[in-house]
Amino acid sequence: MPGFELFGDLERKEVNDVLDTGVLMRYGFDGMRKGHWKAKELEAELSQTFKTNHVQLVSSGTAAVSVALASAGVGAGDEVIMPTFTFVASFEAIIMLGAIPILVDIDDTLTLDPKAVEAAITPKTKAVMVVQMCGSMGDLNALQNICNTHNLLLVEDACQAIGGTYNGKPLGSIGDLGCFSFDFVKTITCGEGGAVITNNEKYYTNADHFSDHGHDHIGSDRGAETHPFLGYNFRISELHAAVGLAQVKRLPEFIALQKKNYTILRDAIARIPGVTFRKVPKGGEESYAFLNFFLPDLDAARKTSEAFKANGIDVCFQYYDNNWHYIRKWNHLKTVKSLFPLSSEIETALTNLQDKTFEQSDHFIGRNISCLIKLSWTEAEVKERASKMVEAIKASI
Ligand SMILES: *Cc1c(COP(=O)(O)O)cnc(C)c1O
Repeated sequence: MPGFELFGDLERKEVNDVLDTGVLMRYGFDGMRKGHWKAKELEAELSQTFKTNHVQLVSSGTAAVSVALASAGVGAGDEVIMPTFTFVASFEAIIMLGAIPILVDIDDTLTLDPKAVEAAITPKTKAVMVVQMCGSMGDLNALQNICNTHNLLLVEDACQAIGGTYNGKPLGSIGDLGCFSFDFVKTITCGEGGAVITNNEKYYTNADHFSDHGHDHIGSDRGAETHPFLGYNFRISELHAAVGLAQVKRLPEFIALQKKNYTILRDAIARIPGVTFRKVPKGGEESYAFLNFFLPDLDAARKTSEAFKANGIDVCFQYYDNNWHYIRKWNHLKTVKSLFPLSSEIETALTNLQDKTFEQSDHFIGRNISCLIKLSWTEAEVKERASKMVEAIKASI
């Protein structure tokens, strides 16, 4: 997945354009910038890449989720349905707005089970956030239907699925709003950065203003701009945007490499009896950022994970026992370890998670292993990795 693996002259050139003018900020200083508008250019590129009318760059993927929800009016007391398997950013971004994260089971797509989503809807539900984990997607058709029926927003966190598609549409462009991260380990990187994409002009304008202190961005005198509403600072810098501008042009090259490496590994382990793969919904194509597979049970998954480590097969994760991505180890969330007081509604929702079980999620995550696909591996390295993986799995099941 990581774009940082392939970093070079293109990135240097874009960054040097910015350093040569000294204008490190994306707004204003028109006279000094010698025509360089890296953030604006990157937004235009991303609009093409994601076939979406509007793109707002922000400072991170986590900020993108908060900005997306805020732009659509989600806030205090509103419930946002999210999966038990995701990155910690999902609940952080929801709680930041005073909204309430409602965690529900995943299915074999490794994200929201539509049936679990439907069961969790209450009069307070405002949005459903599908997190397109590990390079693939949820059942977007079913989720979209549920959102339409109940008049809910569908927000896509596509941070880990840049370049994946569903019925020919880029992931991130299908819901009302899509969110991307360009942090250091994502498929394309800015160092730090993120984006909100939408076809809804109102949400876009809100995101544009909200991420820059509520500035209306009218005219060319920043000091004279008014503030139609309250905002924050979630701006990306020109330096970060410059890196992203070089990286986004290389996205097709990155996806092709991922696909090649992924396919070699998948074909090798597919022949092992007992190994199955995560479900990719009909009409979907993964970004090939990760290879996800299931072992017959938790014990076999743990043994496989140990055998991978013992044999030097790195960048494979068994999320059931990992601190970052699965509800089981999110003790700071369940015990509400916040530096500042949260609303009683949020506290109650989080504390309730202590006694809640997610057997269906355990059933999938407990048996899952997720291997990052690197861009820098040679074909010989991938083939060697494939045969080591086969041996390690066979010895563990
Ligand atoms: C990386 C990631 C984020 C957060 O992105 P940052 O840019 O690191 O803040 C959010 N959601 C998912 C699924 C991610 O993988």
